[in-house]
Amino acid sequence: MAPTRRQFMQRAPLVRRLPAELQRRLAGLVQVFLHEKNFEGCNGLEVSEEMRVVIAANACVLLLGRRSDFFPHMGAVLLYPASWRVRQVMTDEMGLEEQVDEENLGEAWERGNVILSWQDILLDCDHPDDGFNLVLHEFSHQLDMEDGTANGTPLLPPALARDWKRVMSREFEALRWVAQALDEEGDGPDEWAWEPRPACAAHEGVLDPYGAEDPAEFFAVATEAFFEDSARLRERHGELYGLLAEFYGLNPAAWP
Ligand SMILES: [Zn+2]
Repeated sequence: MAPTRRQFMQRAPLVRRLPAELQRRLAGLVQVFLHEKNFEGCNGLEVSEEMRVVIAANACVLLLGRRSDFFPHMGAVLLYPASWRVRQVMTDEMGLEEQVDEENLGEAWERGNVILSWQDILLDCDHPDDGFNLVLHEFSHQLDMEDGTANGTPLLPPALARDWKRVMSREFEALRWVAQALDEEGDGPDEWAWEPRPACAAHEGVLDPYGAEDPAEFFAVATEAFFEDSARLRERHGELYGLLAEFYGLNPAAWP
C-alpha cells in the first residue's frame, strides 16, 4: 500500500518532534499549502508526492503558531535533484572582473520562486538537530520578504518591533565577530559555506556564521537554530530565542 500523506510528513524529523496537537494543526496547513502552491521539477527531476509533502511540512512549521497567510508572495517551488552550480561574474576591489562558480542549494529570490535541492533536504532529514534546515531557511526568507524587502525584519506586531531591532542588531554584530575570527583562521564562511553540513560544532556556536552575511541571512540562520537547536539557542541566546518564540508563536525548546 502506498504511504499516506501522514506517513510522508513523518519523514521530516521536525514533524516527529511536534506535540500531537501541533501535528494535527500542521496536517491542515500542509493540505492548504499543497492545494495552493505549484511544484516544478528541474534538471529532469520528477516531483513525487513524498517530495511535495516533506517540503510543505517543513515550510508550514513556520506558520503553525502565527496568524498569517500562506507565503502570499511566493511563486512556485522549483526543485532540483541536487545542488547546482551557478556562474557569476564578480568585480573585485580593483574593478577587475572574475568568473566565480558557486555551489547553490537553495534560493528564495528569483521572481518569488523558492528554489531547493532535494538531495540537501534529504540530508536535513538525516540530521535533524545540526542546526541546518534548507526548507526552513528559504521559507523564512519568504516571511522576511512579505513587507517587500529582505532585510531580516519581517512584518511585526508593534509590541515586538522595538526589541526586534535591538536584539537582532546586537546578535548580528556578535555573529559577525565570530565569522571574522573564523575567517582569519583561514576557515571562513567562503570556504565552507557549501560543504555538506559544515557543522556549527566547529566553533561550538549555535548560529551558523553564514548568518553574518547580512541581516536577511541572519534571520534565516536564527530561524534554523530556533527549530533545530532550540535548547542551546534558548540557553545561550535567551533574548533571541524569546523574540523568535514570540514571532513564531511556538516554544520548540519544550518539545521532546
Ligand atoms: Zn539565505
